[in-house]
Amino acid sequence: MSSSERESVAQRDSAVQRDTGQSFDVIVVGAGFAGMYLLHRLRGMGLRARVYEAGNSVGGTWYWNRYPGARCDAESLAYSYSFSHELETEWNWSERYATQPEILRYAEHVAAKFDLKRDIRFGRRVTRASFDDRAGQWTIETDRGDRAVAPFCVMATGCLSVPQEPQIKDLDTFAGHLYWASRWPHEPVSFEGQRVGVIGTGSSAIQAIPVIAQQAAHLTVFQRTPNFSVPACNGPLDPKFVDAFKANYPGHRKNHRLGMGAGFGDLQVEPHPGGPVLETAAGKSEADVRALLDKYWRIGGANFIGVIADTILNRETNRVVADFVRDKIRAIVKDAATADALCPTSHPIGTKRICVDSEYYETYNRPNVKLVNLRDNPIESVAANGIRMHDGSFHGLDTLVMATGFDAMTGALLRIDVRGSAGKSLVDVWSAGPRSYLGLGVAGFPNLFTITGPGSPSVLSNMLVSIEQHVDWTVDCIDYMRKHGHRRIEPVLAAQDEWVAHVNDVANGTLMLEGGSWYLGANIPGKPRVFMPYAAGVGTYREICDRVVANGYQGFSFAS
Ligand SMILES: Cc1cc2nc3c(=O)[nH]c(=O)nc-3n(C[C@H](O)[C@H](O)[C@H](O)COP(=O)(O)OP(=O)(O)OC[C@H]3O[C@@H](n4cnc5c(N)ncnc54)[C@H](O)[C@@H]3O)c2cc1C
Repeated sequence: MSSSERESVAQRDSAVQRDTGQSFDVIVVGAGFAGMYLLHRLRGMGLRARVYEAGNSVGGTWYWNRYPGARCDAESLAYSYSFSHELETEWNWSERYATQPEILRYAEHVAAKFDLKRDIRFGRRVTRASFDDRAGQWTIETDRGDRAVAPFCVMATGCLSVPQEPQIKDLDTFAGHLYWASRWPHEPVSFEGQRVGVIGTGSSAIQAIPVIAQQAAHLTVFQRTPNFSVPACNGPLDPKFVDAFKANYPGHRKNHRLGMGAGFGDLQVEPHPGGPVLETAAGKSEADVRALLDKYWRIGGANFIGVIADTILNRETNRVVADFVRDKIRAIVKDAATADALCPTSHPIGTKRICVDSEYYETYNRPNVKLVNLRDNPIESVAANGIRMHDGSFHGLDTLVMATGFDAMTGALLRIDVRGSAGKSLVDVWSAGPRSYLGLGVAGFPNLFTITGPGSPSVLSNMLVSIEQHVDWTVDCIDYMRKHGHRRIEPVLAAQDEWVAHVNDVANGTLMLEGGSWYLGANIPGKPRVFMPYAAGVGTYREICDRVVANGYQGFSFAS
C-alpha cells in the first residue's frame, strides 16, 4: 500500500472508530508539530501511544491558519524538525520564509514518512482528563465519546490554538462573508470586487492585509493597537546557499539550541553571528547605531530585534530602536496621519512578538486601502452590511476578516477539564495565573506533561527548537521512570514556587511587562496578568533542564 493510501485508510478508520476504555502507555492531546514528534519518539521506545486531535489532519497551527499570506516568521531552514537528518536533508524549502501550504505539506510528509496517522484519532476534542490516584492512571474523554486510559498524559495542545473572539456588538448580524484568520476555510476564498474589512493588526493581519489589498475592491483596516513590524525580505532560497547550509546542518542546529537568544539562528542572507552585534546603544553615537540597524533592516527578519543585546533590557536602547522603526514607517507611508496611526507608541519595541511582513506598510499607499484608528473612534456595532462607528460614521462591507489573536499559552489547557490528584481542578489551581515547574509539569498533577507550557521559553522562541527540547525531555523522563521502577512523578510545590518566582524575576529585569501583550494575557478580558513565558533564552533554559536531570530530576518527586 502506498503512503497516501495508508494515510486515507488511517483517516477513514479514525473517523469511524471509537476508543471505549482502551489502555495505552501514553496519551497525547494535539497533533501539531509537538504531538507528531511525541508520537514518533514514544513509538521509538516501544510504547503504545494514542493521540487525539480536534482537527481533521496533522499540522496544528498550519492546519488551522490558512488565511491569505500566512507563513512562518522564523526562517524555513530553522523552522523545521532536526530529529531526523534524513528528513532535513531530503526536504527542500522553496522560500526563506515558508508559506502555510508549504509547511502543511511538510507536516503531511512527516506524518507519511513516519507512518504517524494510524495512531492519531482526528476530529476529536479532548474535553476531560482526570487522574485516578489509586490506579495511577489518566482517563481521557473526547467530545465524540472516546474514553481511554494511560499512566501518562502529555498535553501538546499548542500555545496559540484557541482563537480570541472579541465581544463586538451584533457581530452575529453581519450578513456578508465572515472569516476568522485562525479558522480559515479549506476552499479558496476570493475577495475580487469586494469591500473587505479586517479587524486586528497583529501578526496574522499584517501578513494577510497586503494580499487581501491586492484583490479587494476596497480594504478597511480596523486597528486598535499598532504593532512594530520589520520587513521579511523574503525570496526564493538559493540552492547553493541551501547546499552549504545543509552541509553544516548539525552545526546550525546546535547554535539554535544552545544560543542565548530565541533559537531563530544564524540564517541571514549574509554572514550573521546569530546573536547580538552590539551590546548596547546607550552612550553610542545615534548615527552609528542607526547605520547598524539600517543594515539589519535591509537583511530583514525577526533577528532585527536581537541585533543590539539590551534592546528589551535598556530603555535608552529601546527608544533608539523604536524611533528607528517609527522613522521607517513614516518614510514608507505617504499619508502623514496614517503613518502616525501606524507608529506604535504604547509599548517598547520587542515587548510584543515582533511582526515580520512583506509590504505591510507600503500597502497603506494603495488608493483602495484605508486605516481606521479605533483608539480615536471605536466600533459601536456591526450591522448586516458593515460596521457602525462610535461617531456615527459607517463602513459598508461585503466581507469581514477577524484577525483578533489567541487566548495564548493557557487557553487550550484550561478548556479541558483537567483533574489531578484528589480531583483537583487545573482551572482552580491556575485561577490567579499559571504556575508550573519549568513549564513541563504542575504540582498536584502527577504524570502530566505540558509541551511548551507556561514558564518555558515557548512563544519567545523558534517554537520548533522548544518543542523538540520538551518532547525529548518528556520522553526521556518516561523512559527513566520505567527503567527505575517509578510509576509516579510530579513537581515538588516548593520547586515550582521557586521556578515561578525565577520566571517573574527574569521578566522583571526586562521591559517585557510594559508591553500589554498576550504574553501577559492582556488581550483577554479578565485573564490574570501574569508574564507566562521564560525570557532568559533557549540555551539558558536547556542548561537548567539538563541540570535538573543530571541532579536526579531535582525538584520532582517520584513514587513507585
Ligand atoms: C499564524 C501563526 C503563525 C506562527 N508562526 C510561527 C513562526 O513563524 N515561528 C514560530 O516559532 N512559531 C510560530 N507560530 C507558533 C506555532 O503555534 C508553533 O510554531 C507550532 O506550530 C506549535 O506547534 P504545537 O504542536 O505545539 O501546537 P499547535 O500547532 O497549536 O497544535 C496543537 C494542536 O492541538 C489541538 N488541540 C488543542 N486542544 C485540543 C483538545 N482539547 N483536544 C484535541 N486536540 C486539541 C489543536 O487542534 C492543534 O491542532 C505561529 C502561530 C500562528 C498561530
